[in-house]
Amino acid sequence: MTGKTHVGIGVISAVALSQYKMVELSLGGLLVCAIASLLPDIDHPKALLNKYILPIKNKAVKTTIYFTLGVFFLLLNFFYLNLKYVETIGIFFVLTGFSSHRNGITHSLTGLLCFGGTFGYAARIYGFKEYIVPFFIGYGLHLIADMFTNRGVSLFYPFKKKNYKMPITFAVGSFWGNLFEGLIISIGLIYLTFKLPEILLK
Ligand SMILES: [Zn+2]
Repeated sequence: MTGKTHVGIGVISAVALSQYKMVELSLGGLLVCAIASLLPDIDHPKALLNKYILPIKNKAVKTTIYFTLGVFFLLLNFFYLNLKYVETIGIFFVLTGFSSHRNGITHSLTGLLCFGGTFGYAARIYGFKEYIVPFFIGYGLHLIADMFTNRGVSLFYPFKKKNYKMPITFAVGSFWGNLFEGLIISIGLIYLTFKLPEILLK
Protein backbone atom coordinates (compact mmCIF):
# COMPACT_ATOMS: atom_id res chain seq x y z
CA MET A 1 0.00 0.00 0.00
CA THR A 2 1.42 3.39 -0.90
CA GLY A 3 2.38 6.01 1.67
CA LYS A 4 -0.18 8.38 0.18
CA THR A 5 -2.98 5.87 0.81
CA HIS A 6 -1.91 5.45 4.42
CA VAL A 7 -1.83 9.22 4.93
CA GLY A 8 -5.28 9.41 3.29
CA ILE A 9 -6.74 6.79 5.63
CA GLY A 10 -5.20 8.41 8.71
CA VAL A 11 -6.28 11.94 7.84
CA ILE A 12 -9.84 10.95 6.82
CA SER A 13 -10.27 9.06 10.09
CA ALA A 14 -8.83 11.84 12.25
CA VAL A 15 -11.12 14.41 10.61
CA ALA A 16 -14.12 12.08 10.87
CA LEU A 17 -13.45 11.31 14.56
CA SER A 18 -13.06 15.00 15.33
CA GLN A 19 -16.73 15.42 14.37
CA TYR A 20 -17.55 13.28 17.42
CA LYS A 21 -15.13 15.23 19.61
CA MET A 22 -12.83 12.21 19.94
CA VAL A 23 -9.92 14.13 18.43
CA GLU A 24 -9.09 17.80 18.66
CA LEU A 25 -8.74 18.91 15.07
CA SER A 26 -5.69 21.05 14.38
CA LEU A 27 -3.13 21.37 11.65
CA GLY A 28 -0.45 20.06 14.03
CA GLY A 29 -2.62 17.07 14.93
CA LEU A 30 -3.20 16.21 11.27
CA LEU A 31 0.51 16.49 10.56
CA VAL A 32 1.36 14.16 13.46
CA CYS A 33 -1.33 11.76 12.23
CA ALA A 34 0.10 11.85 8.68
CA ILE A 35 3.67 11.16 9.85
CA ALA A 36 2.49 8.39 12.21
CA SER A 37 0.62 6.81 9.24
CA LEU A 38 3.95 6.57 7.41
CA LEU A 39 6.11 5.38 10.31
CA PRO A 40 5.47 1.60 10.15
CA ASP A 41 6.88 1.48 6.61
CA ILE A 42 10.35 2.67 7.66
CA ASP A 43 11.12 -1.09 7.57
CA HIS A 44 11.07 -0.75 3.76
CA PRO A 45 14.08 1.00 2.17
CA LYS A 46 11.92 2.60 -0.54
CA ALA A 47 9.16 3.89 1.77
CA LEU A 48 8.04 7.52 1.61
CA LEU A 49 9.73 8.57 4.88
CA ASN A 50 12.96 6.79 3.94
CA LYS A 51 13.18 9.03 0.88
CA TYR A 52 14.18 11.72 3.34
CA ILE A 53 16.09 9.57 5.82
CA LEU A 54 18.22 7.21 3.73
CA PRO A 55 20.93 8.54 1.39
CA ILE A 56 20.79 5.34 -0.70
CA LYS A 57 17.61 3.32 -0.80
CA ASN A 58 18.62 -0.29 -0.38
CA LYS A 59 18.34 -2.89 2.34
CA ALA A 60 21.97 -2.81 3.47
CA VAL A 61 21.94 0.98 3.90
CA LYS A 62 18.58 0.82 5.69
CA THR A 63 19.90 -1.81 8.13
CA THR A 64 23.14 0.10 8.76
CA ILE A 65 21.47 3.48 9.28
CA TYR A 66 18.74 2.28 11.64
CA PHE A 67 21.12 0.03 13.54
CA THR A 68 23.62 2.89 13.99
CA LEU A 69 20.84 5.30 14.95
CA GLY A 70 19.59 2.81 17.54
CA VAL A 71 23.05 2.26 19.03
CA PHE A 72 23.57 6.05 19.10
CA PHE A 73 20.37 6.53 21.15
CA LEU A 74 21.30 3.66 23.47
CA LEU A 75 24.80 5.04 24.12
CA LEU A 76 23.50 8.58 24.51
CA ASN A 77 21.05 7.30 27.06
CA PHE A 78 23.57 5.10 28.85
CA PHE A 79 26.20 7.80 29.28
CA TYR A 80 24.17 11.01 29.56
CA LEU A 81 20.39 10.98 29.63
CA ASN A 82 19.23 7.90 31.52
CA LEU A 83 15.66 8.26 30.25
CA LYS A 84 13.46 5.21 29.68
CA TYR A 85 11.89 6.57 26.51
CA VAL A 86 15.23 7.35 24.85
CA GLU A 87 16.24 3.75 25.56
CA THR A 88 12.97 2.54 23.99
CA ILE A 89 13.65 4.58 20.84
CA GLY A 90 17.15 3.06 20.68
CA ILE A 91 15.88 -0.52 20.94
CA PHE A 92 13.13 0.26 18.44
CA PHE A 93 15.58 1.55 15.82
CA VAL A 94 17.95 -1.40 16.27
CA LEU A 95 15.02 -3.78 15.70
CA THR A 96 13.80 -1.70 12.73
CA GLY A 97 17.24 -2.13 11.16
CA PHE A 98 16.84 -5.89 11.22
CA SER A 99 13.13 -6.04 10.34
CA SER A 100 12.26 -7.04 6.81
CA HIS A 101 9.23 -5.31 5.30
CA ARG A 102 6.00 -6.17 7.11
CA ASN A 103 7.61 -9.04 9.02
CA GLY A 104 9.09 -7.18 11.92
CA ILE A 105 8.66 -4.80 14.80
CA THR A 106 7.20 -1.76 13.01
CA HIS A 107 4.14 -3.66 11.73
CA SER A 108 3.31 -5.19 15.12
CA LEU A 109 1.34 -4.28 18.23
CA THR A 110 4.68 -4.19 20.07
CA GLY A 111 5.79 -1.50 17.60
CA LEU A 112 2.55 0.43 18.07
CA LEU A 113 2.98 0.36 21.86
CA CYS A 114 6.74 1.16 21.77
CA PHE A 115 6.44 4.02 19.33
CA GLY A 116 3.05 5.27 20.59
CA GLY A 117 4.06 4.93 24.24
CA THR A 118 7.32 6.77 23.68
CA PHE A 119 5.58 9.51 21.72
CA GLY A 120 2.83 9.78 24.34
CA TYR A 121 5.34 10.01 27.17
CA ALA A 122 7.34 12.74 25.42
CA ALA A 123 4.11 14.54 24.43
CA ARG A 124 3.00 14.69 28.06
CA ILE A 125 6.35 15.98 29.28
CA TYR A 126 6.61 18.68 26.60
CA GLY A 127 2.95 19.71 26.77
CA PHE A 128 1.48 18.60 23.46
CA LYS A 129 -0.91 15.98 24.77
CA GLU A 130 -3.50 16.73 22.08
CA TYR A 131 -1.25 14.98 19.53
CA ILE A 132 -1.28 11.58 21.26
CA VAL A 133 -4.65 10.39 19.87
CA PRO A 134 -3.84 11.50 16.27
CA PHE A 135 -0.57 9.57 16.55
CA PHE A 136 -2.32 6.35 17.60
CA ILE A 137 -4.96 6.81 14.87
CA GLY A 138 -2.29 7.19 12.17
CA TYR A 139 -0.09 4.31 13.32
CA GLY A 140 -2.91 1.95 14.32
CA LEU A 141 -4.86 2.38 11.10
CA HIS A 142 -1.73 1.71 9.07
CA LEU A 143 -1.56 -1.77 10.62
CA ILE A 144 -5.29 -2.39 10.06
CA ALA A 145 -5.08 -1.14 6.45
CA ASP A 146 -2.13 -3.43 5.70
CA MET A 147 -4.17 -6.36 7.03
CA PHE A 148 -6.47 -5.86 4.03
CA THR A 149 -3.61 -6.69 1.66
CA ASN A 150 -2.71 -10.27 0.84
CA ARG A 151 0.65 -10.17 2.64
CA GLY A 152 -0.87 -9.28 6.00
CA VAL A 153 1.16 -8.02 8.96
CA SER A 154 3.22 -9.55 11.77
CA LEU A 155 0.78 -8.34 14.42
CA PHE A 156 2.23 -10.30 17.35
CA TYR A 157 5.94 -9.99 16.51
CA PRO A 158 8.28 -10.93 18.27
CA PHE A 159 6.04 -13.40 20.13
CA LYS A 160 4.53 -15.03 17.03
CA LYS A 161 6.11 -14.92 13.60
CA LYS A 162 2.84 -15.34 11.71
CA ASN A 163 1.40 -12.69 9.36
CA TYR A 164 -2.23 -11.85 10.05
CA LYS A 165 -4.74 -10.60 7.49
CA MET A 166 -8.45 -9.92 7.08
CA PRO A 167 -10.84 -12.46 5.51
CA ILE A 168 -11.12 -10.19 2.44
CA THR A 169 -7.83 -8.92 1.02
CA PHE A 170 -6.51 -7.36 -2.19
CA ALA A 171 -3.16 -7.51 -3.91
CA VAL A 172 -1.10 -4.31 -3.87
CA GLY A 173 -0.67 -3.08 -7.46
CA SER A 174 -3.63 -5.09 -8.82
CA PHE A 175 -6.56 -3.39 -10.63
CA TRP A 176 -8.83 -3.47 -7.57
CA GLY A 177 -5.97 -2.56 -5.28
CA ASN A 178 -5.11 0.54 -7.30
CA LEU A 179 -8.76 1.51 -7.65
CA PHE A 180 -9.29 1.15 -3.92
CA GLU A 181 -6.15 3.15 -3.05
CA GLY A 182 -6.99 5.84 -5.62
CA LEU A 183 -10.48 6.20 -4.14
CA ILE A 184 -9.14 6.60 -0.61
CA ILE A 185 -6.67 9.30 -1.68
CA SER A 186 -9.39 11.17 -3.63
CA ILE A 187 -11.90 11.02 -0.78
CA GLY A 188 -9.16 12.15 1.62
CA LEU A 189 -8.29 15.15 -0.54
CA ILE A 190 -11.92 16.18 -1.02
CA TYR A 191 -12.67 15.74 2.67
CA LEU A 192 -9.63 17.77 3.63
CA THR A 193 -10.43 20.58 1.17
CA PHE A 194 -13.86 20.95 2.75
CA LYS A 195 -12.58 20.74 6.30
CA LEU A 196 -9.45 22.85 5.97
CA PRO A 197 -11.17 26.26 6.40
CA GLU A 198 -12.81 24.96 9.58
CA ILE A 199 -9.42 23.84 10.95
CA LEU A 200 -7.58 26.99 9.95
CA LEU A 201 -10.22 29.44 11.18
CA LYS A 202 -10.31 27.97 14.68
ZN1 LIG B 1 2.93 -0.94 5.94
